[in-house]
Amino acid sequence: MSEAVDCVVVGAGVVGLAVARALALQGREVMVLEAADAIGTGTSSRNSEVIHAGLYYATGSLKARLCVQGRDLLYAYCAERSVPHRRCGKLIVATSPEQIPALQGIEARARANGVNDLQWLNAAAAQALEPALQCVAALYSPSTGIVDSHALMLALQGDLEHAGGLVALNSPLAHARCTAEGIHLQAVDGTELLARTVVNAAGLAAPGLARRFEGLDARHVPMPHYAKGSYFTLAGRAPFSRLVYPAPEAAGLGVHLTLDMGGQARFGPDVQWVDDPADLQVDPARGDAFYAEVRKYWPGLKDGALVPGYAGMRPKISAPGEPAADFVVQGAAVHGVPGLVNLFGIESPGLTSSLAIGACVVAL
Ligand SMILES: Cc1cc2nc3c(=O)[nH]c(=O)nc-3n(C[C@H](O)[C@H](O)[C@H](O)COP(=O)(O)OP(=O)(O)OC[C@H]3O[C@@H](n4cnc5c(N)ncnc54)[C@H](O)[C@@H]3O)c2cc1C
Repeated sequence: MSEAVDCVVVGAGVVGLAVARALALQGREVMVLEAADAIGTGTSSRNSEVIHAGLYYATGSLKARLCVQGRDLLYAYCAERSVPHRRCGKLIVATSPEQIPALQGIEARARANGVNDLQWLNAAAAQALEPALQCVAALYSPSTGIVDSHALMLALQGDLEHAGGLVALNSPLAHARCTAEGIHLQAVDGTELLARTVVNAAGLAAPGLARRFEGLDARHVPMPHYAKGSYFTLAGRAPFSRLVYPAPEAAGLGVHLTLDMGGQARFGPDVQWVDDPADLQVDPARGDAFYAEVRKYWPGLKDGALVPGYAGMRPKISAPGEPAADFVVQGAAVHGVPGLVNLFGIESPGLTSSLAIGACVVAL
């Protein structure tokens, strides 16, 4: 006999936890099933920890809307719950005159997305802010920041539990069956639950898991693709106090410089399409390409200063060469299964958008 639960969220990454918290704050009974032995061990602990301002995403897309909403919600939440964060700002730099149109494009898109605080800096003004920087022009984004993602996830879990919800660790969901009485869930250890609402927030595994939902038409499940991003850490003091991004590339935002809350600088992530989502080793040889990229905006980078750091995996639902897909927040209006919400392709800016995704799922 299955135990009845009102809502089950699958996955205790930052998005699953934000969704679970939002549902619990609505007075719903919520259980989070997490496969790993701790929260936030997936993509949520392998990213740049940047609170994005919302500059890059196609106007009207979920990414654009949820990033701008999520950013404001996140700054307010971090302040209220004392989650370490810093509104440090970021410079997007043109290192040759040919890159200026790309920055103009970012500025126009940002405005269309409701981000109106970008400032143009000439080379002298940019260097006055960051003396180590080399560029011909820069766009300054004052509303970009950084956050301690682990502290954020702990705060979300705390709110969830305070509202009566719980996180079940070491509880991978194996299989589900969608029926008229609800969604029957079966964990790998054989435990059975009957849920009225199920949110599939399994990150990289979300498409594969959705294919194991009997009664969900597989044509609503996108094909997953994996784009690995490796980081290299800078040995020694950070040369900048703001984030520095080059003009963006096809599948990522370019090898940029971010800072963690301890002031440690790291460069990355690069883009490497792989077949295995568990392939998270950093190949030291990839660092060779970083030197040339970084020296375009920071000529002071010394040989041997970059140390292999960590890698994250982008949960892509667009194939290499295809335009980047939008976030997919998929409810019954699309797939016809009452009570099931699938979250697919929650790549960057998913951390920034997490609280807004929570609100969006509640609205569904
Ligand atoms: C390289 C990189 C850099 C990024 N930088 C930024 C950034 O600076 N700013 C930003 O806003 N966003 C950034 N992102 C995006 C952000 O990290 C993600 O959008 C976000 O972490 C996704 O969270 P999630 O909860 O959806 O997924 P995850 O964190 O992957 O969580 C999914 C969870 O589901 C669990 N799970 C999987 N299968 C099952 C199952 N069958 N049963 C139970 N549990 C299961 C997993 O164990 C995991 O804990 C970056 C992403 C990458 C890859």
